Amino acid sequence: MNSVQLSSTTAAPKSLPSLTVAKFGGTSVADFEAMLRCAHIIKNDTRNRLIVVSASAGVTNYLVRLSQENISVNEQKDIIDNIRAIQFNITQHFSSDIEASLNTEINRLLDELTQHALTQSLQHSAKNSDAILAYGEQCSSRIFAQVLQSIDVAGEYFNVQQVMKTNSTYGKAIVDLNLLKSHCAQLLAPKLVNKVIVTQGFIGQDGEGNTTTLGRGGSDYSAALLTEALQGDNLSIWTDVVGIFTTDPRITDQARAIKEISFGEAAEMATFGAKILHPATLIPAMRCNIPVFVGSSKEPEKGGTQIKKKVDSTPTYRSIALRREQTLVTVKSPAMLHASGFLAKVFGVLAKYELSVDLVTTSEISVALTFDNPSGSTQSLITNTVVAELEQLCEVSVENGLSLVAVIGNGLTGAKGIGQNIFEAINDINIRMICHGASANNLCFLVAENDANFVVEKLHKTLFAKI
Ligand code: ASP
Ligand code: MG
Repeated sequence: MNSVQLSSTTAAPKSLPSLTVAKFGGTSVADFEAMLRCAHIIKNDTRNRLIVVSASAGVTNYLVRLSQENISVNEQKDIIDNIRAIQFNITQHFSSDIEASLNTEINRLLDELTQHALTQSLQHSAKNSDAILAYGEQCSSRIFAQVLQSIDVAGEYFNVQQVMKTNSTYGKAIVDLNLLKSHCAQLLAPKLVNKVIVTQGFIGQDGEGNTTTLGRGGSDYSAALLTEALQGDNLSIWTDVVGIFTTDPRITDQARAIKEISFGEAAEMATFGAKILHPATLIPAMRCNIPVFVGSSKEPEKGGTQIKKKVDSTPTYRSIALRREQTLVTVKSPAMLHASGFLAKVFGVLAKYELSVDLVTTSEISVALTFDNPSGSTQSLITNTVVAELEQLCEVSVENGLSLVAVIGNGLTGAKGIGQNIFEAINDINIRMICHGASANNLCFLVAENDANFVVEKLHKTLFAKI
């Protein structure tokens, strides 16, 4: 779709020309060649006028390390030098005067970053962590605006903190949508008339002017919120895969790209493991009925996945998502028999620790709950403190090493034979927990981590054989 030039025949119901917000992920802005490919995607479709970029690949991971407590001044220096090397490796492709001015700007940002890192090692704070994490996007957006200019696109840098106002929950700040809308109308919309604006995903600013972040992978969400605020017509998420797949292609080579998928199905996929989109991305899109495209900036000619409200086909089985590192907590209390209020107390404890429950099943005297551990984290979300507090109410058992398999599709609660199709295919596997019925778009269950790949491969073969 992005190869289409805006022409007089393009339907444009609004008085303003149609607006696509295009978001480019870390691998798409990893080096000069990647950035140049993205710049051409933008140039080829003049609807792309607001560009939201992630940090260059690897930079945010370095910044996360930099924001941690146990880090020496030497390691800090090495990290900052590594970030500088990633950015200078891009700027060296410009003419020498542009390279020099960009490098001066990057050095200035990295000097600020050094100060934040030193402060952090003296006194660690979540506020300062967010200040540190924001530098990746600050660098990549400045460089990318220049890449656009180098191919004669009127690219201009814009600091998203002027419009992306948030609360002060550092690390997962909540955006004030009303402020975003009014600031966008005032400060951003006028610029979009004759410029291509390049701005940062992931970062915002609280009421006191401190930098905040929206959570890892949050650039997709930023782009979706900006599209909503500006009443944009489309959101394009450019990544390194040619759209959303029927399952993770690393698990089975039978996985294939999905051409079209509904909001409901895609939201289930984003929530249950398909790592392509930040799970919150589709909320603004669904609210305002904004179609979302997901494609590869490396191979734009291969097309991608369209996510929209109404799709032509609604197959029973659309995809299989897998999420690893799940914790299952079972709480058991004979007092629950014929009693009320027990669940409210359990959820009260979980709310106190800001733990979000994914799946729930209950029996007469026990309740099983699943939790998603952030990937790569060494410690389970369910800490000893949480367990101790729950133990005041009931018996508690905690199991780790589980994976959540989600079969996603349409009409899963209404069609016959769903359970049989799914479970017959994997009848030699122990299923630890099953959730079905709350949504017509999914059926989820837990299996042992070691069985997960086999289960997905086998299910994919069975459920998708005929499509
Ligand atoms: N740079 C941030 C991250 O790596 C945000 C993003 O890329 O979406 O998490
Ligand atoms: Mg991402």
